[in-house]
Amino acid sequence: MIALKGAEVSAKIQAQVERQLEELGGYVPCLAIVRVGERPDDLSYEKGALSRMKKYGLRAESYSFPEDVSMEKFREKFRNISGDDRIDGILLLRPLPPQLDEKEIERMIDPAKDLDGISPENIARVFAGDETGFAPCTAEAVVRMLKSYEVPIEGKRAVIVGRSAVVGRPLAMLLLKEHATVTVCHTRTRDLERVCREAEILVAAAGKPRMIGAAHVREGAVAVDVGINVDENGKLCGDIDFEAVSEKASMATPVPGGVGAVTTAVLAEHLVRAAAMRRK
Ligand code: NAP
Repeated sequence: MIALKGAEVSAKIQAQVERQLEELGGYVPCLAIVRVGERPDDLSYEKGALSRMKKYGLRAESYSFPEDVSMEKFREKFRNISGDDRIDGILLLRPLPPQLDEKEIERMIDPAKDLDGISPENIARVFAGDETGFAPCTAEAVVRMLKSYEVPIEGKRAVIVGRSAVVGRPLAMLLLKEHATVTVCHTRTRDLERVCREAEILVAAAGKPRMIGAAHVREGAVAVDVGINVDENGKLCGDIDFEAVSEKASMATPVPGGVGAVTTAVLAEHLVRAAAMRRK
């Protein structure tokens, strides 16, 4: 079985970002990362994104708010960030605490700076198969990973486990655009193992440590693991039992070292594209 390495894919994206940066004639795009509270996974994603931007020669600023920030205060500050001309792109770390109205915030973000595709405009573009908007970085990272390893998508049966607005749903649209036949599974799906075994491309995005085992995988399938979980021993792991599926899958992504590494590379690429679009 071939392990699909995120580092190889992100290196290719880096080369592309460097070429796009040259076209900006010395202008250095700036990312704003907005975080509420101190959730460990947010802090770790923020750290990864900051170091990726630095590595690619891009600027990034962190804006953090206390966990109990009021909607009124957040609205005012977020509007300023979104309207700040120095800022080319925004990454809002979610989920947000319950006092913040996520729907209102999604509508507030300038779609031209909405690098993770949370605004209604960008969601609509993803659903319409229009590539001029920004798709959620993780969903796009899955497709980039497959394309980078020249996995044929057209006409293939793809099964996604997970239907969240950030990963499963937009990924279904992106794979559909690539002409896959897509099935999306969730907690009410009957006989998940059987449905997964139909997949030539199986994507796990459920957030359940190693829930996908050999019984879910068809011989020769490509298995992509979006999950980032901590197991009972405090070890980082995905939704796929990598060892178990390695006997049946032809290719699979490890965790860590798989899709996660590509996600921040896609974020950097979105930032440079947003800056180029704004400067036109
Ligand atoms: P989420 O919002 O919790 O959604 C999980 C989805 O999986 C839901 O649709 C849920 O079904 C489904 N699900 C959960 N358990 C299931 C089961 N036993 N059988 C079938 N379906 C099941 O999670 P998310 O935000 O999409 O994130 C998913 C995973 O990806 C997490 O581990 C997260 O940390 C990771 N993630 C990784 C990246 C990256 O860059 N690699 C980025 C974002 C998220 P229902 O809808 O029926 O509840």
